[in-house]
Amino acid sequence: MKLTNLILAITFSMGLLACSDAASGNEMGNANENSNGELDLTSLQFSSDQNSLNESEKAGLLLMREEEKLAGDVYAYFYGKYELRPFTNINKSEVRHSTAVLSLLTYFGLEDPAQTEAGKFTNADIQALYDKLTAAGSTAELALSTGAFIEEYDIADLRKLISESQNADIKTVYSRLLSGSYNHIKAFTRVLGFRNVTYTPQILTSSEYNEILAK
Ligand code: ZN
Ligand code: ZN
Repeated sequence: MKLTNLILAITFSMGLLACSDAASGNEMGNANENSNGELDLTSLQFSSDQNSLNESEKAGLLLMREEEKLAGDVYAYFYGKYELRPFTNINKSEVRHSTAVLSLLTYFGLEDPAQTEAGKFTNADIQALYDKLTAAGSTAELALSTGAFIEEYDIADLRKLISESQNADIKTVYSRLLSGSYNHIKAFTRVLGFRNVTYTPQILTSSEYNEILAK
C-alpha cells in the first residue's frame, strides 16, 4: 500500500516537474519566444503595401484577432477554475498572439473588433463558441481537452488563411501563431497524458495530429 502510494507520488511529481519544465521553457513562457520559432513581438516589422489587402484577408484578420482572444479568455477562465499551470502560461502566449494580429490590423488601417472585457466578443460566432467552450470544461480533464480542441480549431483556421493569403506580412505572423498552436496542443496532450487521458482530435485527422505531436 505504502509502496503503491510512493510510486503514485513519484509519478505524479514527475508529471508536475515535466509539466512545469515545459511550461516555463521557451515553448510558451518566455517574453521572447523566437528561439522556438514563436512570436517575438519586439521584432515585428511589416513591409507590404498597406492598401493591398482583399476582403477575405481583412475578414481573416478580424477573425483571428478575436479567435486568439477567445483562446486566451477561455484559458484564463479555466485557470481561475482549476489553477493548472498550462492555462496561465498558454494564456500569456495567446495574449501575445492576439496583440500580433492587432499590430497587423493597425498597419493595414483596420478597426480593432476586440473588446477589452474578458469573455466578450464582437463576432457572434466567437461569442457562442466562448460560451460553449467554457461550459464544456466542467472538470479539469475536460478543460484540458477543450484546450486541445481550441488549438485544433486555431490550427485549421490559420492553415486555411495562410493558404488563401498572398500577403507576406500576414503569412509570416500567421505562421508564427501556427507554430505557437503546435506547441500548445502538444502541451495540452502531454498534461492530459499525465492524467491518463488520451486526446482524440476532433477537427484534424489522426495523421495530421500525430504529425504535429512528432514536431
Ligand atoms: Zn494562439
Ligand atoms: Zn494556442
